[in-house]
Amino acid sequence: MSTLTHRAMFASQRTALALAIAVSALHAQGGKTALQWLQEYSPTGYFIIHDYETRAAKPDAHKEHLSVTTSPVTATAVHEISHMRDGFNSKGNNNSYFIGDGKDFALPKSFTPFNSIEMTPDIPPELVNFQTDVYISGKAGTLGAFSQVGGLYGIFEEYDAYATEVVSTAEMAPCFKAHFNSAKDWEDLAGEITTSVWSNSEFRYFSLRYILWAKKKHPDVYQQIIASQSVRECYTRLKALADRGITAWIAALEDRGLDAKTGHGFDWYWKYYAELQKPEYTDLEKILLLPSVALAPRRGGEKGIRVLSNRQADRTSTPLLPGGHDILGRPGLRIQSILP
Ligand SMILES: [Zn+2]
Repeated sequence: MSTLTHRAMFASQRTALALAIAVSALHAQGGKTALQWLQEYSPTGYFIIHDYETRAAKPDAHKEHLSVTTSPVTATAVHEISHMRDGFNSKGNNNSYFIGDGKDFALPKSFTPFNSIEMTPDIPPELVNFQTDVYISGKAGTLGAFSQVGGLYGIFEEYDAYATEVVSTAEMAPCFKAHFNSAKDWEDLAGEITTSVWSNSEFRYFSLRYILWAKKKHPDVYQQIIASQSVRECYTRLKALADRGITAWIAALEDRGLDAKTGHGFDWYWKYYAELQKPEYTDLEKILLLPSVALAPRRGGEKGIRVLSNRQADRTSTPLLPGGHDILGRPGLRIQSILP
């Protein structure tokens, strides 16, 4: 029997099991729905979902992205609805990005982006992981993703969704401490955002690599990027949101005595973090980051994609994409949603 058939069988058993657990999970989450828990503990996650579902008239859109757990693990739902919401808010010439505290940033398209695939040669092998294959090089069979064809605009969109998801998860930490405080509950919570933890520094790295590639190969685009107060403010705000989320999440893990050095996605997080201390990045950030920025309005975005670890994918019965591998080198890469 081929490995593929094995996998297909396993997938169908998993689906049946997941459905059975999903039915009981609704009642096992302390008698409240995931959205009710978010409303109580995560102003960010609740805002993203409630605001989008209300204004877009898509009630319950988040439900298909809820994880199958006995605790309210909501990160994937917040991530996916965050994409939908940014897309919904994008109008005319603007991409919209959520920047925290119920606010959005409207980024006018002031330059024509080149495809992010171009910068693949500048990413050294030791910094390539499956997210690189999915979001940048397309080697995972994901050609056409917004993070590629949208260039920096698309990279910002993923950076935003991952940052928002981590902010919301950190806000849920007190909920877990009060109501779902078993080791298993915390493993479920931390496991859900493993990829998001490292994406926090990986998409900052992708943003800067993109601009550095422009500097080398598309000097006109580079000039347009660094001359744009809006691009600089957008990057400043996305980084601030990402920094806020990861700082709170590290504090939550350490408070619970959990590893924020190598486990729970932090191996890759610190690897990119260390890379970003090099002068080529710090010099560029000196140009990009605005020390103080006024609050701006909004609009922008499109739909993005999300790569799951096998563990995350097992819980959500997400189909396999052949040829990829997860962080532990196990075959199979799961994609939750891809741009048409
Ligand atoms: Zn995404």
